Amino acid sequence: RVLKFGGTSVGSPAALLAARDIVRAAEAESRVVVVVSALAGVTSGIEELLAAALARDPSWRDGFRALRERHRRQLAAVAGGRAAVPAADALDGGIERLRDLLRAVELLGEVSPRTRAWVLAAGERLSTPIFAAALTCGGVAAVAVDGTEVLAAVGPHDDALPDVAASRQKVADRLATLGDAVAVVTGFFGGDDAGEVRLFGRGGSDTSATALAAALAAERVEIWTDVDGVATADPRLDPAARWLPRLSYDAVEALAL
Ligand code: ASP
Ligand code: MG
Repeated sequence: RVLKFGGTSVGSPAALLAARDIVRAAEAESRVVVVVSALAGVTSGIEELLAAALARDPSWRDGFRALRERHRRQLAAVAGGRAAVPAADALDGGIERLRDLLRAVELLGEVSPRTRAWVLAAGERLSTPIFAAALTCGGVAAVAVDGTEVLAAVGPHDDALPDVAASRQKVADRLATLGDAVAVVTGFFGGDDAGEVRLFGRGGSDTSATALAAALAAERVEIWTDVDGVATADPRLDPAARWLPRLSYDAVEALAL
């Protein structure tokens, strides 16, 4: 089973721990692969930092520090002790790389599509070690896995598509190195022939999860999100929206169109 958790499901300690419990229960029954998004709001936040750095507006540093603190706090809230050490190292490394990239963009005053993809991928590269640490700390050994290692991607840097056929061997080989540990894979991107980041577009973690499920011939893929239910309309746009107590698959499909 492939279980995907969106930004809201990993965005607060309480939500992340609830997601961890869902994975733990699933893992007791079947072989599980987890896909996670960046913490809620982080990809958009990084996009803003990038725009500020590009405009040589030094205030990106404040936003960057807030981002770093948020991830450190999140890790401390969901994992501790030895299980948190690899995650703390991964966070430090990922955060340092992000700062280097933003500094480079500020210095050069330009950003290529390739650099932009690298920068935007940082959110998932920071959330996956935190999720893996929460699982390990909760008694389920888990390892953060980069999307470039398991998913082949083709097309533009910011709007690529997964190549499922080419991903089959890639993901099988990587999972074989993990033993019993659960893979916690970054959503949102795969890797091109050179192993470089190719984004599947905003909201692309669902694409990552479904492509991985296809490449693994998984029994099913579950897209988890932390909301109160399905509403009659987008509650952000329509104050009269109501939560639906029951819903058939056919009705969901019609609503989704
Ligand atoms: N983090 C990415 C985004 O915000 C991908 C995703 O969450 O699906 O678009
Ligand atoms: Mg989404």
